Amino acid sequence: MRTSSVTAGQAPEFNWENPYLLLTPGPLSTSPTVRAVMLRDWCTWDDEYNLGIVTPIRDGLVRLASASQPQLFTSVLMQGSGTFSVEAMIGSTVPQDGKLLVLANGEYGNRLGRIAATLKIPHLIHDTGELAAPDLGKLEASLAGDPAITHVVCVHNETTTGMLNPIKEIAAIVKGRGRTLLLDSMSAFGGIPMDMAELKIDFLVSSANKCIQGVPGFGFVIARRDELMKCQGRARSLSLDLYDQWQGMEKGHGKWRYTSPTHVVRAFAQAMQELEAEGGVAARYKRYSENQRRLLNGMESLGFRCVLPRELHSPIITGFHSPQHPDYSFAKFYQELKSRGFVIYPGKVTNIDSFRIGTIGHVFPEDIDRLIKAVQASMYWV
Ligand SMILES: *Cc1c(COP(=O)(O)O)cnc(C)c1O
Repeated sequence: MRTSSVTAGQAPEFNWENPYLLLTPGPLSTSPTVRAVMLRDWCTWDDEYNLGIVTPIRDGLVRLASASQPQLFTSVLMQGSGTFSVEAMIGSTVPQDGKLLVLANGEYGNRLGRIAATLKIPHLIHDTGELAAPDLGKLEASLAGDPAITHVVCVHNETTTGMLNPIKEIAAIVKGRGRTLLLDSMSAFGGIPMDMAELKIDFLVSSANKCIQGVPGFGFVIARRDELMKCQGRARSLSLDLYDQWQGMEKGHGKWRYTSPTHVVRAFAQAMQELEAEGGVAARYKRYSENQRRLLNGMESLGFRCVLPRELHSPIITGFHSPQHPDYSFAKFYQELKSRGFVIYPGKVTNIDSFRIGTIGHVFPEDIDRLIKAVQASMYWV
């Protein structure tokens, strides 16, 4: 029985096992060892925390971002969910007289535009809709025709649909035209091999609870040092000032400017070690790809159809059309699956009735095989 009762002065009774797998990144399912290391408290100004935990995380992130030239980059950790770090990146990099071009093809791309609008940053949005890749010709033409544009921002893996955007091609155009490139790599970093130096990406954001498989509570920005150096005084927010947060961490040897989520940070250090033990990003990419391959094959054998064509897909998350049956409801299907140990996501694509299943986290091909059996057993409308 999963009961928990808290009485003052007594440890609560608690079943530590997860009742179901989260296929809803994020948060996502984490390993028992990542969860276990949160069971002690840390002092935010002690070296044990700052030198022992925060600094190795910062260094490790830089090595994950660029194996070829890590010395070009630095990393800044930021409190809050992933969006806080995206907002910190956009708000702290575009100068007062700058202009931002946003490439949007889904909910997260639209959010980049909303951040720019809220911060009153001059911007324009290229929206290609949720089912199409960014328009590279239009990007090239805008950069050629509008010298006011200083920065370009786009999403790496658009989690709305699971579409993997062509960042290599985008980066070649943006850097070829001498602009600064910002990337929301929230749901791709750590799960899809990449090298920021080779791709010439200037700033990248991800968060603790995506492919590195930590728990939610902070995000991080990996930045080219020479580009971040230019950002002093540009921020439109005190707490989300990326440059100041960076300076604080550099001078304080890992100290965050304001209270950091210590338990979450400790869990993330464990998650980074587990990523390395698994064989790094290449091995994780392989596992996620195998998860998704089994998911696609299994779901198609049950009669489900993908929202996106296979070739546009990342191994991170997959959207499926809802069954066209009068008795089908997502809410009921969700409950059926949950009772069998799996939690899934509703769809997010406008005008398409769909649902999504994530394949990242502490989730293995055998789990996906069990999921397919659970889906079959949950198809109450058949
Ligand atoms: C998860 C995610 C975010 C951040 O979402 P939060 O809820 O703020 O953590 C941003 N962009 C993408 C592409 C994501 O997948």
